[in-house]
Amino acid sequence: MVSDERLKMLFRQLGDDVFVIGLTWSDEGKGKVAHELAAGAHATVRWHGGASAGHNIMLRDGTKVHLHNLPCGIVRANVPRNYVGPMSVVDPECLRRENSLAEQYGRDRTFVDQGALVVLPLHKFIDGGRETRFGAKAYGTTKTGMGPAHEDLFGRKGLRVRDFVSAKQLRAKLTERRYYEEKQAIAGFWGIRLPSLNETVRYCRQFVPLFQKLQLDTRAAVQTLRRQGRPILWEGAHGVMIDVIQGTMSTSSLVGPWSAMHSYGPMRSRLAVIGTFRPYVTRTGAGPMPTEMTDDEATRLQVEAGEVESTTGRKQRCGWLDLEAIRHTARLSGTTHLIITKLDVMPFKTVRIANGYQPDAGYESGMTLTEQVLENVRPQYVDLPGWDGDDVAAATTWNDLPSATKKFVELVETATRLPVIAIGNGPQCGDLVLRKS
Ligand code: GDP
Repeated sequence: MVSDERLKMLFRQLGDDVFVIGLTWSDEGKGKVAHELAAGAHATVRWHGGASAGHNIMLRDGTKVHLHNLPCGIVRANVPRNYVGPMSVVDPECLRRENSLAEQYGRDRTFVDQGALVVLPLHKFIDGGRETRFGAKAYGTTKTGMGPAHEDLFGRKGLRVRDFVSAKQLRAKLTERRYYEEKQAIAGFWGIRLPSLNETVRYCRQFVPLFQKLQLDTRAAVQTLRRQGRPILWEGAHGVMIDVIQGTMSTSSLVGPWSAMHSYGPMRSRLAVIGTFRPYVTRTGAGPMPTEMTDDEATRLQVEAGEVESTTGRKQRCGWLDLEAIRHTARLSGTTHLIITKLDVMPFKTVRIANGYQPDAGYESGMTLTEQVLENVRPQYVDLPGWDGDDVAAATTWNDLPSATKKFVELVETATRLPVIAIGNGPQCGDLVLRKS
């Protein structure tokens, strides 16, 4: 198990602002990596996204935690400040649950920005109802209300954390510019019945004390931490491939790290962006996935690597590692270092890697990987010997790793021109092998 002391040292070497992001379609193991690096952080910040993201973290004592809204630092007593940013959408029920967990690790360390949008039952009703009625054209959302909540976030509507003052204030906000009436009309269009305005006010009122306690101007707080020279860990909620602008529009959220600057201003010069991914890729919901495996191959990963989506329990679609996608997201996100997780679960005698797409399919290397582009590309594979049966989990130093895994890592480094600074070799926190001692 890698020690907290070594992780702290690694953070110090990496920078003052350290991002942990996913370079694929999500579920890269960002939660575990962020939690580990938070050993060296004074604050962790989840600056975007909402409860559709689910970070599963198995702590060193074996406890499993699932975080949908709050950043990983809440389950690390050494981190005194944990913030949810103003570009986030916050599910109050989820927040109540996760804040109780946070309090087990210390009180008054968790804060939600006053400007964050609050997810209401109406968002979930509209999300779920629309998905059902889209039929074969459904997006395959998690039905957690994320899409409709982001429509409000960027549509200057809905309830913000700061509105949770009193029932009177909530009612005034819900009826301002005929907000609730408009939502009922939209729901009616889709044949969905929303809770009444009174029910919604009652629902919201129960969360007034929680939001009163947790709300903060996190932007001012981050400025203070910067002036004090405090190290900050920025935890990405989703993979960059699903970003609404940079990626395939599978989420409504602005996933790339630069969106954090929109909320918090420029990062400090000592900045690192750690891109995480597994030796394979997965995707939930609909949409093209150029390196998608056969059903038999995917089943092995679903069973042996537990590739089941954490928010919905759906089986993941699985594919071979797509380095063209990794290069694309690494380039757009300014990734400086890589960490490959789940190297211990790759149950294949031969490991395939797409090191690019065929140029003859109208594709040129470097093109933006929109959904439309991905629909037509054909991967060019390189086959490497696998490490199925080798004991990757037992490695504690880089030298202990099986040679097939080192060849794999070297290929990734050559193809991306980025250093792999660690690999994950087990589900638990601490199951990380650092490249340098
Ligand atoms: P995230 O949303 O990117 O944090 O990823 P998920 O929450 O979907 O899932 C990551 C899962 O993989 C969690 O259950 C982790 O415990 C597990 N995990 C993370 N890193 C490793 C690793 O190196 N090896 C193994 N076997 N499991 C890992």
